Amino acid sequence: MKVESEVKAKRMLFFKTNIKSFLKVSTLLIFLFISKAAGEGNTIKINSYKINVEFAENNQLQVKADVEFYKKQSGGKILFLIDTSMTFTNIHLAENRKSSILQFVKNEDTLLLYIPSSKSNEKEFHVLFEYTMPIDSLSGGATEMGYWYPYLFNNISKFMIIAKMPYSYSMFFPGILLKKYINSKSIKYIWETDKPLPRLFGVIAKSDAYTESKSVIRGKMLDIYLLAKDRGLMHRFKSESEKAFKFFSDYIGQYRYKSLTFIEVPDMKYVNSQPSFIMMGSIFLDYYKKNLYDWPPHEIAHQWFGSGIFAKQGDLRSWCMFEPLAEYSRLTFTASDSGKVYMEKEIKGMIDEYKSDYESTKYDKPLIETGGSRVTYIKGTYVMNKIAEMCGQEKWQEFLEKLFDHFQGRFLTYSDFIKYLSKINNKAGKAANEMFTTTGLIKE
Ligand SMILES: [Zn+2]
Repeated sequence: MKVESEVKAKRMLFFKTNIKSFLKVSTLLIFLFISKAAGEGNTIKINSYKINVEFAENNQLQVKADVEFYKKQSGGKILFLIDTSMTFTNIHLAENRKSSILQFVKNEDTLLLYIPSSKSNEKEFHVLFEYTMPIDSLSGGATEMGYWYPYLFNNISKFMIIAKMPYSYSMFFPGILLKKYINSKSIKYIWETDKPLPRLFGVIAKSDAYTESKSVIRGKMLDIYLLAKDRGLMHRFKSESEKAFKFFSDYIGQYRYKSLTFIEVPDMKYVNSQPSFIMMGSIFLDYYKKNLYDWPPHEIAHQWFGSGIFAKQGDLRSWCMFEPLAEYSRLTFTASDSGKVYMEKEIKGMIDEYKSDYESTKYDKPLIETGGSRVTYIKGTYVMNKIAEMCGQEKWQEFLEKLFDHFQGRFLTYSDFIKYLSKINNKAGKAANEMFTTTGLIKE
């Protein structure tokens, strides 16, 4: 067992060195879509989305999105973020049994709504957006629905989706499938998120595209959808993911959602670990299949840190907590299986890589500024290990448990992280802040 895992570790290290430059651009958790509207999210709070989406085989989505929000400030304009490809046909303000047309201006990825002056002091709004949106070709069997509804950064809301499509297609969303209606021509799904979420992605696919595997682990549904009809791959992916899921549930705390869906998306160049919904580019499954890159435990760890506790979009400092937390949790999990030696070797590999490729170069910035670069992953994980050692493994685990318990369903900022760590261990909190805000490695 050990020999096998050592060989695997070596191959992974070799491969990692070779795909380093690739990984720099391939962000495993997507934080940053800096837009001119990023700051506008603070003026309204969206309570709920009820979205009717219809797909009619012409590669167009027909959408009616019913959005309920609360306006914190008076004034006549509201800015939403949208996808540039959306074509709006109608936007209505719904009031007791009547509705009025709202004027709007679409400017690339933003939509500006004009609230009539008679309503500018009102607080509660209910707006119905009607639009169409093209989706990518389904030639690979499936495609992602990314920015497919008017949204705001850093807004946590409930979602209900009513999806209708021809019988030969399927749609997948995070949350719970409440109802499924089938007739000879079409199929209709009703989905609801079991918890309010900051973002909602989806996948649309040909209905025969996937092989599915379902299992119940620690009382939660694990649902895996892979494109290849490859029993060996499914079996390995399932058992290894179940193992990591079990480990994190026991180590950090009960999984926040009722289900976790893994879904392969052929044209995706990365893995995106959204709350209860992990979208995996086929290329990553290929690496996994060839034992080149063991990414699933990292992405599953993000279900606790990044998608259980939320990362603020547009906040550069989010990266230096969530990526190293996920990566260090992956190492903790692997060490529980393959021994502490494995973890020490991986961390040593990271230190060596940092020293040879980044130390004293222009990339060697304090971690709070390194964003999604490779330095965040390698030096950040080294720093997490230092903090864990300073706390002692038992206290470190207690810290993760308490952090998750306290912040799940909410955003965690860098300063919250340091404050919370200092409460558990004041010395570690101070040292962590020092390590996150300076260049180089700490002197041994
Ligand atoms: Zn990640």
